[in-house]
Amino acid sequence: MKPKIGIVGNITYETEGVTIGEEKIFVMRAYVDSIIKAGGIPLVMPLTLDFDVLKEQVESVDGIVITGGQDINPLIYNEEPIEKQGGITPDRDWYDIEVIKYAFHLKKPLLGICRGIQAINVALGGNLYQDLSQIPTHYIKHSQKAKPDHPTHSIDIAEGSRLYYIFGKNTVVNSFHHQAVKRVAKGFKAVAWSKDGVVEAIEAEDEDYFAIGVQWHPELMASKGNENMLKLFKEFIKACEKRGNKK
Ligand code: MN
Repeated sequence: MKPKIGIVGNITYETEGVTIGEEKIFVMRAYVDSIIKAGGIPLVMPLTLDFDVLKEQVESVDGIVITGGQDINPLIYNEEPIEKQGGITPDRDWYDIEVIKYAFHLKKPLLGICRGIQAINVALGGNLYQDLSQIPTHYIKHSQKAKPDHPTHSIDIAEGSRLYYIFGKNTVVNSFHHQAVKRVAKGFKAVAWSKDGVVEAIEAEDEDYFAIGVQWHPELMASKGNENMLKLFKEFIKACEKRGNKK
């Protein structure tokens, strides 16, 4: 049996037609295609504010992708919003954070992407730069104008990390973010940085637990045939298979 992978849904609302204003939950197809290419069975995890339902959702999958989306409400990490803080989705903040905390408790593999690395970090006690302009060394374009699957900046990877095992000491990534990890959550470590010192990846310190957050969008690359980025999804699926067999 292939491992079942929950992909956390994003939330938006209908902007036209008879259901205008109605909320809808969705995932970008690139996540679905990347999970399938890597050998997993994708399942959308639609958000709910019902904690019992959330728990059963988490229990019913072998691993979870925490997807991209809006900025996280900075009040959650005890900061007031600065001018450059972007839009927020409070229901999704609550859902993502509870999913991450419960998955972490169960040691279910986690792959956080873009907002996902930020959600993992905040859920487990870290915080964020609300805007890259708050980082004195920042100079690189992290909101690329190039096509989504085109890598635009390089990253350096910490020796001995899981990410190092997957990619080696450096690689190139795409970039669509204006926020970044600041203080890393306890139990995690920063393992990749862009040349301007912005944290581009974190992972669990526990070597037996696959929990990685990446600031770029590997799914937009892997789904378009980038074999290098597909390796990240394959390692994630491998970890989910192992975890699944323990049930
Ligand atoms: Mn970047």
